[in-house]
Amino acid sequence: MEFSQNQIDSIVQSVVAQMQGTTPTSAPAYDSTQYNGRQYLGVYATMEEGIDAAADSYKVIRNMSVEQREKIITEIRKLTRAEAEIMAKLGVEETKMGRVEHKTLKHILVADKTPGTEDIQTEAQSGDGGLTLVEMAPFGIIGAITPSTNPSETVICNSIAMIAAGNAVVFNPHPGAIKVSNYAVDLVNRASLAAGGPASLVCSMVKPTMQTADVMYKDPRVRMLVCTGGPGVVKSVLSSGKKAIGAGAGNPPVIVDDTADIKKAAKDIIDGCTFDNNLPCIAEKEVFAFSNIADELMYNMQQNGAYFITAAQADELAKIVLVEKKNEKTGKITYSVSRDWVGRDAKKFAAALGIEVDDSVRCLICEVEEDHLFVQTELMMPILAVVRVKDIDEAIEKAVRAEHGNRHSAHMHSKNIENLSKFAKAIETTIFVKNAPSYAGIGFGAEGHTTFTIAGPTGEGLTSARSFTRKRRCVMKDMFHII
Ligand code: NAD
Repeated sequence: MEFSQNQIDSIVQSVVAQMQGTTPTSAPAYDSTQYNGRQYLGVYATMEEGIDAAADSYKVIRNMSVEQREKIITEIRKLTRAEAEIMAKLGVEETKMGRVEHKTLKHILVADKTPGTEDIQTEAQSGDGGLTLVEMAPFGIIGAITPSTNPSETVICNSIAMIAAGNAVVFNPHPGAIKVSNYAVDLVNRASLAAGGPASLVCSMVKPTMQTADVMYKDPRVRMLVCTGGPGVVKSVLSSGKKAIGAGAGNPPVIVDDTADIKKAAKDIIDGCTFDNNLPCIAEKEVFAFSNIADELMYNMQQNGAYFITAAQADELAKIVLVEKKNEKTGKITYSVSRDWVGRDAKKFAAALGIEVDDSVRCLICEVEEDHLFVQTELMMPILAVVRVKDIDEAIEKAVRAEHGNRHSAHMHSKNIENLSKFAKAIETTIFVKNAPSYAGIGFGAEGHTTFTIAGPTGEGLTSARSFTRKRRCVMKDMFHII
């Protein structure tokens, strides 16, 4: 195995730091190139250098056995579990968003439930004409864009899946979460090195920008682009002219009908909606509740950490947490979320309204009409709007409108299988969770694998190793058919 000078320097610095006993145990000062004096592996000054290093690493992984790849993945899982809390703390510190205890759980979920090489399966057809194999091959170098809301979780989840498929990766992480994203890049490379793999199996930048993303889009060595983020970036990656996977925005509605276990529905909805302060794209963002159970539902939400604000207070809060933009040409006004408020704790929103609450308050709830900005905007804040509806048809109609055709996630609490099926068919989302918190949809406390890249627009769904492969057919005429 050959290393570039850059890789050798990084390895030497990493080993020296470890010998000096400066391996992390808590969360001291750090930046996008080092943590506590330990220089990150795989982090480069330019995108070109990152792609060069990924190209070298791809040559190495190309010749590795599947068993060797799996060893690297086992090591990534081990380090992720061990350093989950460190990354959770660093993520909250850097982005000012989310909750340490929940981010810790998210990392552990990624370590435990992201599929590895077992996800790669060969198909075979045999018969009089011989044997035909279809194998899942790597793309080569994958360029990945990652969000600020689940930064290190996405880097590690993508890395496990992409490495399992035999790829090398170059990341252009969200600039607002670059320090913790690069911590995760380094973790993956430390795992690779410990398992006998290359020291820059996944690469990143010191300072990612739109321009570095553009270099990544245009470099012919990058064969596939995978983008996890909001509508702007998904659109840009899909216009790149390359094979791309886009995992975009959602605004998941929840319907609660009058057959549901209301107490449980209230708790499940608040648990899901407040997880990591509502940052996950799958989290409950607005509720459509049957009129005859709406009061009971909101009462039980308040028994589970929700604080009720009036519609007038909701209007006042909307002016604080949303930013108004006027299109100069058309005069049309649109609203977007204020980055100063995304993922903040519930008590900060209460304080903005002059209300003092303690830490037991996990979110604010309000009852509003369908057209309220808190219903129609993907807030990613612990604020949950409840809209009263008369029956299932009205609920579905309004929920589908609020989801804006993202076809991302939707949830429902009901014991009526007709209502459940009707909503699932109408909303056409990638994830549909029945009678559980939204995070059941990514395998947390429920069946199924996890991912932090849910690709609705391009159709891969909950991505896993096989999403990052290309199928190749090999035909043997007449032979290797043993019957
Ligand atoms: P964001 O869209 O602000 O940023 C995502 C990434 O794209 C960042 O790295 C950013 O720097 C980059 N970027 C933005 N515009 C770009 C462009 N034109 N060209 C190149 N790069 C560009 O996302 P965020 O605020 O960090 O994350 C929240 C959004 O992402 C929400 O809308 C959420 O629903 C969505 N999300 C979706 C999934 C999913 O799996 N579908 C997962 C997490 C987040």
